[in-house]
Amino acid sequence: MMYYSGIVSNQRTSVVAGGGKRKTVKMKGEGILFIISAPSGAGKSTLFKLVLERLNDIKPSISYTTRPMRENEQNGVDYFFIPDEEFDNMIREDKFVEWANVHNYRYGTPKEIIRDQIASGEDLLFDIDVQGARSLKDEFPDSVLIYVLPPSFQVLKDRLLQRNTDSEDDITLRMENAIKEIEGIAIFDYLIINDDLNKALKDLESVISACRLSRQKNEFDYTMYINN
Ligand code: ADP
Ligand code: 5GP
Repeated sequence: MMYYSGIVSNQRTSVVAGGGKRKTVKMKGEGILFIISAPSGAGKSTLFKLVLERLNDIKPSISYTTRPMRENEQNGVDYFFIPDEEFDNMIREDKFVEWANVHNYRYGTPKEIIRDQIASGEDLLFDIDVQGARSLKDEFPDSVLIYVLPPSFQVLKDRLLQRNTDSEDDITLRMENAIKEIEGIAIFDYLIINDDLNKALKDLESVISACRLSRQKNEFDYTMYINN
C-alpha cells in the first residue's frame, strides 16, 4: 500500500488546516525538473546518458538546435537538428519555453516536453546552458539546478581536445564562454566535480534520489496513512 501520491496516482496531496479539522487537498502531480549545466567538455552528455540508462521514471528533454550534427549523434535522440528558418518559425509560433544563442548556434527547449511531463508526472532531465537554467528556474521555481565541472580548467581544455569534435576556433570560443558560465554558478543548488566518472555518476544519482525523497515527503498523505 502506498501512502504517498505522485507517480503512482499522479495526484499531489498537500495538507491544510481548516476549522481545527485536517483536510487534504488534491493537486495535479508533477515530476521534478532536473536541470544540468556545465561548460562544454565537462562531461555532462556522458553523465546524462549513463544516468538515463540507470534510472527509471526520468526522461530527457530533447532540445532543438541549429548546430550541425556530430558524427556520433542522432537526430531526435541528442537534439532535433533543424535549419535556421525552421528555428525562426518555432520562435514566431512561440514553441519554446526558452531559447538561447550558445557558441554561435541556437538551442531551444520545446514547450511541448513540459506539457507532456506535467501530464505524465515523470521527472525530466535538461541539458541546457546557464542562461537557459536561469529562465527555467524563473518559470518553474521548484526546478533542481545541478552544475557539473571537471577537476580543473586545464582538464576541461584537454577533454575538448580529446573529444575531437570541435574546430580549434570552436574550442577557443567554448573556453572563453566557460569563464562566463562558471560565474553564473551562484543560482545552482548542487555542484558535482566530474573527475572520476563513476563517482560523479553516483553523486548525480544521489541528488536525484534525495530530491525524490523530499517530494515523497511533501506528497505524503498522512490522513490516508492514519486511516488505513
Ligand atoms: P559535454 O557534454 O559536457 O560537452 P562530453 O560528455 O562530450 O562533455 O565529454 C567531453 C569529453 O570528456 C568526452 O570525450 C568524454 O568521453 C570525456 N569525459 C567525460 N567525463 C570524463 C571523466 N570523468 N574522465 C575522463 N574523461 C571524461
Ligand atoms: P553542445 O553543442 O556541446 O551540444 O551544447 C552546447 C551548449 O548548449 C551546452 O552548454 C548545452 O547545455 C546548451 N544547450 C543545449 N540545449 C539547450 C537548450 O535547449 N537551451 C539552452 N539555453 N541551452 C542549451
